[in-house]
Amino acid sequence: RIVFVNGSFVPYEEASIPIMDRGFLFADGIYEVSAVIDGKLIDNEAHLARLERSLGEISIKNPYTTAQWIELEKELIKRNNVREGLVYMQVTRGVAERDFAFPKGVEPTVVMFTQEKAMRASSAAEAGAAVITVEDLRWKRRDIKSVALLAQVLAKQAAAEAGVAEAWMVEDGKVTEGGSSTSFIITRDGTIVTRQLSNALLPGITRKTVMRLAEEAQLRVEERAFSVEEAKAAAEAFLTSATSLVMPVVTIDGHPVGDGKPGPLVKRLRELYLAMADATPA
Ligand code: PMP
Repeated sequence: RIVFVNGSFVPYEEASIPIMDRGFLFADGIYEVSAVIDGKLIDNEAHLARLERSLGEISIKNPYTTAQWIELEKELIKRNNVREGLVYMQVTRGVAERDFAFPKGVEPTVVMFTQEKAMRASSAAEAGAAVITVEDLRWKRRDIKSVALLAQVLAKQAAAEAGVAEAWMVEDGKVTEGGSSTSFIITRDGTIVTRQLSNALLPGITRKTVMRLAEEAQLRVEERAFSVEEAKAAAEAFLTSATSLVMPVVTIDGHPVGDGKPGPLVKRLRELYLAMADATPA
């Protein structure tokens, strides 16, 4: 396995980061994840744009141009021979003696790695995912894709202990998003509903593409917050992310959504997303 660390491609076993890295000490960093399908990066430029934006919000200079990132990603995919899976990119403020305020004159730490994962043929997508709801314990800038993921670790551990795939985080009775995904419901009149963007949630890249594909297919899309009760009573539900693409949600806190099976509109949206991936140039 080859990873990328601070300008070099190295075997994973030889890669190391100093203990004073601010990513480790303070979670002072940003990450991004793009899907790989048929060896191609999917929605990648939007992920790189979000990376640039997240870095800017915490005043870390983006170490690479979009073209340079793409070149590095492609090289890493090639060296690891990834056909289906994920590319992770992580940038921290760098290495300095422990002190909260930004250190001067440090270079950001850059780490990239790939994971192999079945993306297109997913038994989870066939069966649909169960989710639980948990309180959203995160900070007030969830629009930044920060590596500070402790609340998500706890949420997804609760999900794992409940034997389900994802935790939907709830604030003031309304779903913000999943631990690592965007939440959607489809009402009984066929309207696709997902929360409007704000600092309360991450602007999902897959969310945006799915909304576009839905609108192109003449489906109705509404951006608004929805409650757990509304989600449980919905006709269909699903989640989106670079790691799961479009994933049906079939139970919420043990309560079946619709007939408790992946619904027709969710299946169609997943097919539309995969068709978009097929049409993506190499
Ligand atoms: N929300 C959160 C909290 C996430 O971690 C993710 C996964 N990156 C998403 C939503 C989905 O975003 P995307 O579609 O860009 O992967």
